[in-house]
Amino acid sequence: MNQLTSNKINCDATHPLDCTTVSSNSVSWTVVEIEMLLDLPFNDLIYRAQMVHRQHHDPNAIQLSTLISVKTGGCPEDCGYCPQAARYHTGIQNLDMLSLEEVVMTAKIAKERGASRFCMGAAWRGPKQRDIDKMTEIISAVKALGLQTCATLGMLKSGQAEQLREAGLDYYNHNLDTASEFYDEIIKTHGYQDRLDTLQKVRGAGMNVCSGGIVGMGETRQARAGLIAQLANLGPYPESVPINNLVQIVGTPLHGAETLDPLEFVRTIATARISMPKAMVRLSAGRQEMSEVLQALCFLAGANSIFYGDTLLTTDNPGVEQDKLLFRKLGLHALQLGSENVL
Ligand code: SF4
Repeated sequence: MNQLTSNKINCDATHPLDCTTVSSNSVSWTVVEIEMLLDLPFNDLIYRAQMVHRQHHDPNAIQLSTLISVKTGGCPEDCGYCPQAARYHTGIQNLDMLSLEEVVMTAKIAKERGASRFCMGAAWRGPKQRDIDKMTEIISAVKALGLQTCATLGMLKSGQAEQLREAGLDYYNHNLDTASEFYDEIIKTHGYQDRLDTLQKVRGAGMNVCSGGIVGMGETRQARAGLIAQLANLGPYPESVPINNLVQIVGTPLHGAETLDPLEFVRTIATARISMPKAMVRLSAGRQEMSEVLQALCFLAGANSIFYGDTLLTTDNPGVEQDKLLFRKLGLHALQLGSENVL
């Protein structure tokens, strides 16, 4: 099946130059349509992704986010990929929350190195009111440095998103992780609807949404398509879409899962780009294990954001100097603050 007949992409795959796209945020996608994209010949898929990318973004600009863990380990949830779940024996220490001073110092360094967004993660099922009180103080201080702010704190209760927004939070990250039908294989302590409810609260508070998923967890191609369709249909789709390649951690249930073919990872990036044209598609966890060539293919497929800094929450990330070198080789530059498609 080589022809998508809907109004998202009116394109005969044998004549890719004739492709046109509709960038409206109200367009909905079926899982089958996303699978049709994934099934395209690789060159046609990448070509379409580049066309969409160039309609909406500077093709050589990459948005840089720095991520720190403000509260590490000891999480009561059971996400099968996560070294911070208390029930898995991964060697991750359960640490107290960082102080305001520690977070601000890290944020200053991130800004000096060129990051435009500072993301703060905490290993909680969801924040308690005392956590929100501390986080609002931290968010205001980071925002005052002139950085965009993002937080990932777990599931939110009513009113919490508004408090974070008032403190100056620009983005809230809450990944859908995978397709709804595969979700129970990965997480049992909370459900897919819980995730969707939190995303709705974030939107309701007027914040930008950062939501994506993890591939390479043993899911089928159909499940990958299901994840992308779910994200694309959120209405509006997220402003930021992190696509993670599973980093297998000894001690977690997903250690030993079948690894994903790297070209399938690139295909997933391309379908995210095509179905969410204006989103910043972030090449996230797993980049440390990727060659420069694979990363270059991901950028070609429409990824235009990375985590920038030596570590992610608890796993390694390519070093800053390594990334600068890759950017020089590829002629890429950092996206300037304020040049993104946001609320
Ligand atoms: S809720 Fe977050 S920190 Fe907790 S186990 Fe799941 S992914 Fe890890």
